[in-house]
Amino acid sequence: MSKRFFIIDDDESVLLVLKSMLEAQGHIVTGYSSSVKALEDILLDPPDCVLTDIMMPEMDGVELCRQLREAGLHKLRILVVSAKIYHTDKERALAAGANGFISKSRSHPDQMMQDIMSVFSESLSLGFWGCRGTMPVPGAGTIRYGGNTACVSLTFPDGHVFVFDAGTGIHRLGAHLMRMGKELTGTLLLSHPHWDHINYLPFFTPLFIPGNQFEIVGSRHADISLEQLVANQMDGVHFPITPRELGARISYRELGEGTYTIGPAQVRTMLLCHPGYCLGYRVQFGRRSICYVTDNELFPPDSESYSAAYFKMLSEFVHEADILITDTSYFDDEYPKRIGWGHSALSRVLEIATVAQVKDLYLYHHVPEHDDEAIDRMLQEAHKRLRDSGSETVCKAALAEEMIVLQA
Ligand SMILES: [Zn+2]
Ligand SMILES: [Zn+2]
Repeated sequence: MSKRFFIIDDDESVLLVLKSMLEAQGHIVTGYSSSVKALEDILLDPPDCVLTDIMMPEMDGVELCRQLREAGLHKLRILVVSAKIYHTDKERALAAGANGFISKSRSHPDQMMQDIMSVFSESLSLGFWGCRGTMPVPGAGTIRYGGNTACVSLTFPDGHVFVFDAGTGIHRLGAHLMRMGKELTGTLLLSHPHWDHINYLPFFTPLFIPGNQFEIVGSRHADISLEQLVANQMDGVHFPITPRELGARISYRELGEGTYTIGPAQVRTMLLCHPGYCLGYRVQFGRRSICYVTDNELFPPDSESYSAAYFKMLSEFVHEADILITDTSYFDDEYPKRIGWGHSALSRVLEIATVAQVKDLYLYHHVPEHDDEAIDRMLQEAHKRLRDSGSETVCKAALAEEMIVLQA
């Protein structure tokens, strides 16, 4: 469908190239070399999308974006285009309300068109590449729900991909992303550095590809930096390739508890109840919220370790989430022998999901002893308990490599 674009760039040649590319696809394009004149015209009659250069003499692209949002143009798609690829520029543009940030310099024209048009796509795609805890368990008993350890992906309309944890599932995610055949920009959000959450990072092929860009985020572990946590397993002894040999551009950002702009989303973090430093994530994009909360122990109220304050904090953290992916390691009768191991039993999770009015709850971090039939049983038990308690939460277990599309 034909769209109306305004392109603002003081570089005439870039303006002409972009204009002819979009017009060749049947779109209606008006070009501006002055951002001030463009602002006047946008306010009078907004187009579908504004493509603005970041560096301009009168008013830069970020300021233009801020003024358009302040004027109440919330539905207008704004893409900031830059010849440079500085992370801070992108952060500034997204914080000012841009829908995306496109680099002029490294994109193939077809790729650039795809990046521009993706601003009109509103869907998020969530992929489950590994839902197991502790260790991978391949075999006949784990075919339906999969045998790989922790890895979930979330792809945004602009193509940015979030990867939660780097268990063995990340290898298959890597193959999936490589098939898309384009330069990737992504964020790897680590919950914590236990093996089942980080040890397949060196097998994530996109990290080896020059042109790809990844930010690795997570908590430091007391005096060990996040970068060291990742590098220690790739020290040339435990794995032959060191982080320096990875081809992609990789940066690290240590997170505490707070709210951050990461890629195109707002991300809140919370320290979970687990040995060491373990972060839970709440991702907000448009009206959608997705929580990734593993590994986590919810102590029962009769336990000495029970904390009403923690239960309240966590239920507020996941409040009204569209999707909560969380540690449901044990059936209730398995839990008493595993108290203090850092993982939760089913009924406690159902309780918090119900109190927090979570919409879809995904069972996660299945223990090695649970085969497909055990997960079926856990699902049935969850459905019954939720029905009996009058909860509106829907409990699910993702199938191996299941992809879910969410309208943003
Ligand atoms: Zn784990
Ligand atoms: Zn753990």
